[in-house]
Amino acid sequence: MTGDGTRCVRAGLPEETPGAPVPPQLVMASQFHLADGPTADFYGRAGNPTWRALESAIGDLDGGDCLVYPSGMAAISALLRTVTTPGDTVVVPSDGYYLARRYTHDFLTLAVRELPTTPPDARGNLADADFAGVRLVLIETPSNPGLDVCDIAAVVERAHAAGALVAVDNTTATPLGQRPLEFGADFVVASDTKALAGHSDVVLGHITAASPEWAARLLAERTTSGAIPGPFETWLALRGLGTLDLRLARQAENAAALHAALRGHPRVRRLRWPGSPDDPAHAVAVRQMRRFGGVLTIELESAEAAAEFVERSALIASATSFGGLHTTADRRERWGDAVPPGLLRISCGCEDPDDLVADVLAALG
Ligand SMILES: *Cc1c(COP(=O)(O)O)cnc(C)c1O
Repeated sequence: MTGDGTRCVRAGLPEETPGAPVPPQLVMASQFHLADGPTADFYGRAGNPTWRALESAIGDLDGGDCLVYPSGMAAISALLRTVTTPGDTVVVPSDGYYLARRYTHDFLTLAVRELPTTPPDARGNLADADFAGVRLVLIETPSNPGLDVCDIAAVVERAHAAGALVAVDNTTATPLGQRPLEFGADFVVASDTKALAGHSDVVLGHITAASPEWAARLLAERTTSGAIPGPFETWLALRGLGTLDLRLARQAENAAALHAALRGHPRVRRLRWPGSPDDPAHAVAVRQMRRFGGVLTIELESAEAAAEFVERSALIASATSFGGLHTTADRRERWGDAVPPGLLRISCGCEDPDDLVADVLAALG
């Protein structure tokens, strides 16, 4: 059973005993019956059967030991707190998710180096940096919102040679799109709020560690800090994960159709999608990505033009975040990202490609 669809459908299923429910169950409990010996569960902050079902499902897909957190940022901040000590140097992507940078600057006593995820032939980027003296290198690929791709194996080789740990923010790709641990990364971090849960109704995150020792340390930190997810949220994510293969396939089909329809369009100044052979990130993307996902960026002439385009579209909702069933667009400059004012990150949903393309072309006028 190695196909993505089968793995997603089977992920986290309960044991098959006669009369037992087929789907994973939601367990809401802070207290569990104790015994003289150890029990799997004893108190809701330390563990919960619904978390464990999701953790075993994601851990299986990522290829390591998974812990779930109440948000993507809770996962990223827990990792930073756990693997660094004050005064350490960390490297973060200058073009990645902005709150990861902000947390390192505003709430931890670290020396922070910001490097861009530019194509690997440009100088001074993450893939060719010198990591001497660095404790942790955090990369994000594809980067958000620019959709540049970082060569994971190249970063791992340099970072490990310098004694640094590597964490990869795998939010955009999901475990079906990319398995950073197979390229030697020490940790995967992700916001499962996006495509993994996929229905725009839950905020959640996870860390998957390559080593059981780091997983044990992270578990101790989570239990002690108390930053734990609610069982209901983990159950929603587990329910969503069952259709991840189907949703990503449709979303990527939509992204490919939109990319083809918008290539060379007079109103589109810039178009990025790592799945396109003419995208600057494509060569690295094909080496490490198993599928390219449904997020693309387009640039129109101005902030007003971008807002008007979204307004005129019947199928695209103006909303931040991405990876859900419904196509959405987000003008990232609004949030302070260093991108052109007319740049829109479009997250393709699960509508029919013909409907989406017709709607987008009509909205562009
Ligand atoms: C959304 C996002 C996060 C933060 O996740 P939350 O679940 O919103 O806390 C981190 N990294 C990336 C790449 C994201 O897109």
